[in-house]
Amino acid sequence: MGSETVWPGGLAHRAADALAAWLDTLFVPQCLGCGRSGHHFCDRCRAALRPVLPPWCSSCGQPLALPGAITCPACRRAPLPLAGMRSAALLHGPLRRAVHRLKYRGRQGAARALADLLVPPVRELGLSDGGARRAIVLPVPLHPQRERERGYNQATLLARPLAGALALPCEPHLICRQRETAPQVGLSRRERLDNVRGAFVASPRLAGRVVVLVDDVATTGSTLGSAAGACLAAGASSVYAVTLARES
Ligand SMILES: [Zn+2]
Ligand SMILES: [Zn+2]
Repeated sequence: MGSETVWPGGLAHRAADALAAWLDTLFVPQCLGCGRSGHHFCDRCRAALRPVLPPWCSSCGQPLALPGAITCPACRRAPLPLAGMRSAALLHGPLRRAVHRLKYRGRQGAARALADLLVPPVRELGLSDGGARRAIVLPVPLHPQRERERGYNQATLLARPLAGALALPCEPHLICRQRETAPQVGLSRRERLDNVRGAFVASPRLAGRVVVLVDDVATTGSTLGSAAGACLAAGASSVYAVTLARES
């Protein structure tokens, strides 16, 4: 564990969640996708989601152009330490707007509606039944200072209701971002991997556990790969990842 490591306390997370829940009651639900009143994510926006259709890379979840391929060219060159990864839909239209609004105007009730979209991807990975008894849900953490500035971590807003829906434990404090990283926008996958290498540290309490990492968006999977590497270094038996949206 690096000397810079700051473990955000579980209590602080719960207090932040309680505050977000209280703030949520002050708002009339407004669709995160289209802005119409009445729903957090309306049926019309749900119907407009573009699913990530197979074939996809067995490691990073990237849609594959070549039928019959198992991994994408990037994973063949530098495989990510993920046992599997799925996204609810492509980052497009209403989901793109919803992800943006979740990131900059995080609201717990709205996040719960979006977290529902993550249940099928977890089921596709085979982690929602008996075999998942030992699985633990971890949101990809922000650096503690970044989370303080924003007031919440959008991945935690998604992970908690997802874990609740699947009756799995959610333990955000078992992984920490120990180093702030430069924005990944515009970087190649190799540059992204270098940028986030060693950014995370995970608790030895993950030893022997199956981990499901949760994040809002995956682009190349490099951030999830780095977080997965930290979980494996802490002794996790395998690490899967689900994201709301896939940018490709
Ligand atoms: Zn809508
Ligand atoms: Zn891949």
